[in-house]
Amino acid sequence: MEFKQGDTVFGLEGLVAESANLANISTGFTWAEGPVWLESRGALRWSDVVGNKILEYHLASKTTSVYRDGVEYTNGRAVDHDGSVIQCSHGQRRVERDRDGVIEPLIDSWMGKKFNSPNDVIVAKDGSVWFTDPPYGIIFPTEGYPGEREYQDHYVFRFDPKTGEVKAVVIDVEEPNGLAFSPDESVLYVADSSALTNEPGKGNNHLRAYDVVDTKCKNGRTFAVMENGVPDGLRVDEHGNVWVATFDGVHVYAPDGSQLGWVPVPEKVANLCFGGPNGNLLFITASTSIYLIETLTRQAPVR
Ligand code: MG
Repeated sequence: MEFKQGDTVFGLEGLVAESANLANISTGFTWAEGPVWLESRGALRWSDVVGNKILEYHLASKTTSVYRDGVEYTNGRAVDHDGSVIQCSHGQRRVERDRDGVIEPLIDSWMGKKFNSPNDVIVAKDGSVWFTDPPYGIIFPTEGYPGEREYQDHYVFRFDPKTGEVKAVVIDVEEPNGLAFSPDESVLYVADSSALTNEPGKGNNHLRAYDVVDTKCKNGRTFAVMENGVPDGLRVDEHGNVWVATFDGVHVYAPDGSQLGWVPVPEKVANLCFGGPNGNLLFITASTSIYLIETLTRQAPVR
């Protein structure tokens, strides 16, 4: 399937109406990332990682406000089962919880070693917290503080809040970034964006898929390769299709890895999420702006 740069959606039949428009709903940021829809607030919350702020877009009033400032370079986030927000902190090198504005650390080490800079996080149906740990917050000075890799690698971890156990579940992705489960949580998708830190033509720019068996990730395989840029954040819709953020927009893949289409975005895209009252609005964090496009699907239920 060939796609050309343009203003319209390509492919995505049955997923995005041909008449749907991509709207820039909020702008003026340095690196927008980590979006999540908060039903209780009727708002999209995201990070301006480089701007070191957390912002919210209130859908009803179409207004943007700063939720918190000076936030230790937070990045990806997810809503926990109790409605609180779990978020990644580059600056604190940890995963933390924001409950009504009160921040508490959740996970800050593994086998006595600090994490690199947790980047993105999801919460499974069983309440476990899965997150990626690439090096970006300790090697890019604008996204955190310079630091050392304490365990010398970049893993995906699973934290079980019932037992306190932290386990490395994926160890063969060079620089794990966004992650998401299939609707039944039998497959874990992990973006590898290591081309970001390598010379042109080197490193990875693909999405990996793993079968999840008893909390173990097996049968790792390359699911999709980004032709233009690296994959960053991703979401899975109710049909199991995988929506992936990359430099030139949002690319969508069927569960078998075939490409269904593409939403071109005029800025480099970092992440995306579904939200809105009906769950069918796709919010896209793209460099300086937030974009919105209505879809005909919604986020796979997470619990
Ligand atoms: Mg990311």
